Amino acid sequence: MRITTLIVIAVILIAIIGVAIVIELAPMYQSSKKVLRVGTSPDFPPFEYIDNKTGEVVGIDIDLVKALAKKLGYDVQIIQMDFDGLIPALINKQIDIIASGMTITNERAQVVAFTIPYWRSDQAIVVRRGSSFKPMGLDDLVGRTVGVQSGTTAQDLLQKYVNSTGKQINIKIYTSYVLAVQDLENGNVDAVVIDSPVASMFERIRNVNITAVIPTNESYGLAVRKEDTALLNQLNNALKEFLNTTDWQAILQKYLGV
Ligand code: GLN
Repeated sequence: MRITTLIVIAVILIAIIGVAIVIELAPMYQSSKKVLRVGTSPDFPPFEYIDNKTGEVVGIDIDLVKALAKKLGYDVQIIQMDFDGLIPALINKQIDIIASGMTITNERAQVVAFTIPYWRSDQAIVVRRGSSFKPMGLDDLVGRTVGVQSGTTAQDLLQKYVNSTGKQINIKIYTSYVLAVQDLENGNVDAVVIDSPVASMFERIRNVNITAVIPTNESYGLAVRKEDTALLNQLNNALKEFLNTTDWQAILQKYLGV
């Protein structure tokens, strides 16, 4: 074989390898935007829930976090998990933000950083529609079976009541509020304790009624890792601005009809 033929073959081989490498690496460079992985527990309408028609996660929190990310130049990936898994997942870096109607508490603020509040809530007691059982407060839940979602402020409220009074409430813990409300409809629990705005939504869409609201004066915030101070500042600035826009009003209109 002549030397020129060898050179031609070598050049062709190098070109093929070069093209292959470019094709292999291209996806990594396709989007220059950084992706924010958003963790949520979609059993909490109207803040996060699964749209029956599309199967997608939607809600106030989802639209809010997407709007903030867009403002800040991030792409968003929504990752579903149980509510009690959100803080561990954030700390273990499986997600970058929690957007899940999460109440800002001192206990949680020891391990994660919260943004400024964007919503407030109390706790509500919910029973089966038409039930003769009409609890007006925690005292009326004594001796009853009451459903809550694992890791929530509602679970905390009941536990603290039981611990401080020494009275007995059979607290039934669910991985999701959708399952708790389903069990309430099916007669397997006497009541469910849940955030008041979500109780109002369940009252509209399920066979349940609110009998009492317990003023707990909670505020929802988004959460990030404590060390992600730059992201926290970005989110806070964007959130402060966004809460005064008609875009925020449009999100509320869409999910609350107000
Ligand atoms: N706001 C309540 C909490 O933070 C409940 C949140 C939820 O169930 N998604 O514990």
